[in-house]
Formats: sequence, C-alpha cells, structure tokens
Amino acid sequence: MSRLGDLIDAGEYVEADVCSDCLLWIENRDDSGASSDWDRASVEQTLKTYEVLVSDESDEFSRSTCGACGTDLAGHRTEVKMIKHSDLAGR
Ligand SMILES: [Zn+2]
Repeated sequence: MSRLGDLIDAGEYVEADVCSDCLLWIENRDDSGASSDWDRASVEQTLKTYEVLVSDESDEFSRSTCGACGTDLAGHRTEVKMIKHSDLAGR
C-alpha cells in the first residue's frame, strides 16, 4: 500500500469542497476562465501545504466555502481530499 493510501485509510486528510475556478487551476493550472475576484494566492498557499485529490463527487449548486480559495460565493463545488505534503513525506 502506498503512503498516500495509508494516509487515506487512516483518515489523515481533510475533506473539502472546491469551486470550479480552483478545480481548473488544481487540475490544469488554467485560470483563463476564473472570475476576476478569484484568489489565486490563497489557492497556491493551499497547494503548497496540501496534495489535493479531486473526486468524482460534485454539486452543481452549493453555498459551502471553497476549501482552496475560501470563496463563499454560491456555485459549483467538487469534493476533494487534501493531504498534507509533510504527512506524505513521512514527517
Ligand atoms: Zn475556490
């Protein structure tokens, strides 16, 4: 079992929802469609701390706070698991 698998099994991750702007950035480093008030710096900070695993679960309309950029504008959200890089590295 991989270190990542072990951490998932042990529940050593944070579950979050991310907005569509963040999703595109996380998956493709694409901000061409991001809204002008999208906070890329916050997302970069999140990615520095966490490995973000994108799931197939999404919600077309949600008011949950985005776990990556922190926006609470209602919209599309995709569920992710966030694992700390420091945990992946074995501390
Ligand atoms: Zn976001």
